Amino acid sequence: MISERLKSVIRDIVDFPKPGIVFKDVTPIFKDPVLCSEIVEAFVDRLKDTQVDVVAGIESRGFLFGLMLANRLGVPFVPVRKPGKLPYSIVKKSYELEYGSATIEIHTDAFEPGSRVLIHDDLLATGGTAEAASDLVAELGGIVAGFAFIINLSFLNGGQRLSAASDNIITLVDY
Ligand code: AMP
Repeated sequence: MISERLKSVIRDIVDFPKPGIVFKDVTPIFKDPVLCSEIVEAFVDRLKDTQVDVVAGIESRGFLFGLMLANRLGVPFVPVRKPGKLPYSIVKKSYELEYGSATIEIHTDAFEPGSRVLIHDDLLATGGTAEAASDLVAELGGIVAGFAFIINLSFLNGGQRLSAASDNIITLVDY
């Protein structure tokens, strides 16, 4: 099972980037090209009943499998970026973190209104980042086709927060 294979390589880094956080380190996944392909195929399998016109990947770890998945699905990829990185006209959304706030941005011409957009990131924690991305998709007239994450920290209930935007929430390994 892919969840067991993922659990065997994802590393817990205690107290990173600050005390009290157990960071899920996904970098060992990238060293295994067979596993990388299996992740993409697992997403494709779970998306077989979902029409996806565009994949939106969240900076920065959402870019890695986001582009691979978009390519495999034969659809465009669009980056959702941290502030000040995108060169063309943008819309932006600020959201609250546990301490402080964060902002993400997307190009205004990222997709056509009415497009069905799959939002992807490596990990679902509180869901604040993906929820902000879904707000940007809606602001540009897109439809959230669903969310796809490799990892779900299910004890943080991020899925509940996202269900207002779409209840099509795909995760490959739950903690
Ligand atoms: P959230 O908005 O709370 O769902 O946080 C999701 C974003 O923060 C993703 O981009 C994750 O990569 C990152 N993140 C949050 N918690 C962790 C964690 N424990 N380990 C690794 N990345 C995390």
